[in-house]
Amino acid sequence: MTDGPEYGFDTLQIHAGARPDPATGARQTPIYQTTAYVFRDADHAAALFNLQEVGYIYSRLTNPTVAALQERMATLEGGAGAVCCSSGHAAQIMALFPLMGPGKNIVASTRLYGGTVTQFSHTIRRFGWSATFVDFDDPDAVKAAINDDTRAVFCESIANPGGYITDLDAIARISDDAGIPLIVDNTSATPYLCRPIEHGATLVVHSMTKFLTGNGTVTGGCVVDSGKFDWTASDKFPSLSEPEPAYHGLKFAETFGPLAFTFHGIAIGLRDLGMTLNPQAAHYTMMGIETLSLRMQKHVENAMTVASWLETHDAVEAVTYAGLPSSPYNHRVEKICPKGAGGLFTVALKGGYDACVKLVESLEIFSHVANLGDTRSLVIHSASTTHRQLTEEQQIAAGAAPNVVRISIGIEDPKDLIADLDQALSAAG
Ligand SMILES: *Cc1c(COP(=O)(O)O)cnc(C)c1O
Repeated sequence: MTDGPEYGFDTLQIHAGARPDPATGARQTPIYQTTAYVFRDADHAAALFNLQEVGYIYSRLTNPTVAALQERMATLEGGAGAVCCSSGHAAQIMALFPLMGPGKNIVASTRLYGGTVTQFSHTIRRFGWSATFVDFDDPDAVKAAINDDTRAVFCESIANPGGYITDLDAIARISDDAGIPLIVDNTSATPYLCRPIEHGATLVVHSMTKFLTGNGTVTGGCVVDSGKFDWTASDKFPSLSEPEPAYHGLKFAETFGPLAFTFHGIAIGLRDLGMTLNPQAAHYTMMGIETLSLRMQKHVENAMTVASWLETHDAVEAVTYAGLPSSPYNHRVEKICPKGAGGLFTVALKGGYDACVKLVESLEIFSHVANLGDTRSLVIHSASTTHRQLTEEQQIAAGAAPNVVRISIGIEDPKDLIADLDQALSAAG
């Protein structure tokens, strides 16, 4: 298919990046289960290795199944190009790698997926990188945290564990003024609910593990580049603007223009970091994306129904769903994610820690797992699991206070979800 802006999202989620297999006519994108690709001749091989010709060499770098998914992701996000990799966390390292160096820092939101807080607080320090965490509802604080060594600003569109929506346009104005890219983790929203590039994001990262694949089968990540950032405007991004010794002095920005970041991600990132997505996982993810809009509509509809019901329940202290008129972030839904606030929220119970544990153990349709964005409804009591090692203060800051459970609403019949929650809340006393 020749994709163009005239096609709607529902069409693109099925067709973008895919075409009948030229060898067999297979209508579904085949799983190209191969490690390597035969060169036409020695000149062809040399041209590929010099990046003078685009083609397939070895599946650590490129694979036709993965390439179809990359094109689909770039199209759905409205970007110039995309690189897929093995997980959402891999995508975050892949996004930062071309920008960072020892002594450089990022300014990140305090409201992020717990695993991302750990990656940014501890693990990236091993590379000599660091993160400053600030409240992204306070643009002046974001601005004040940026210094000469800052190389990116990082936040989530709809932040996990839900209920928080970032004013992306306001943050983009700050990163623009500072001449550094804004990276937006769009996992919870997906491009169906929010397209961060339209709000000024430079790069969009995803854990495709969640709503994009949607069925809890595989892990995967993706970095989409808007293609709009001028890497040569300052001397801050030498990996993209300066000669690359490993490719005979080629300059990515000069040679590849809006695709510089994408080519760097493949030719340097995947080549040397090796966080490759395998073609089987790419296949499962593309199967999921074919029905993304239908599922997200149902996730949003169910989340609204269940969150509204929970809010009126006697055992419930608070519900953080941004779709609810009571949410302080409700006014941002229209601007940032007009089709809905996603399928993820937290519930605080009056009965505290013990009531949360009982609730989680009494639920029958909801599964107690460390995952989200599945067709199945999922629940987790963060304080007794993923956030167990944190102090109570840290748990509260992370939206995982002892009396809070995180709920990922699936696409089941909402009547059944409410009945299940009702019996479990009774059991929880
Ligand atoms: C799950 C998740 C990640 C990490 O993704 P993995 O695929 O588990 O590595 C990053 N950001 C958000 C918002 C997530 O929900």
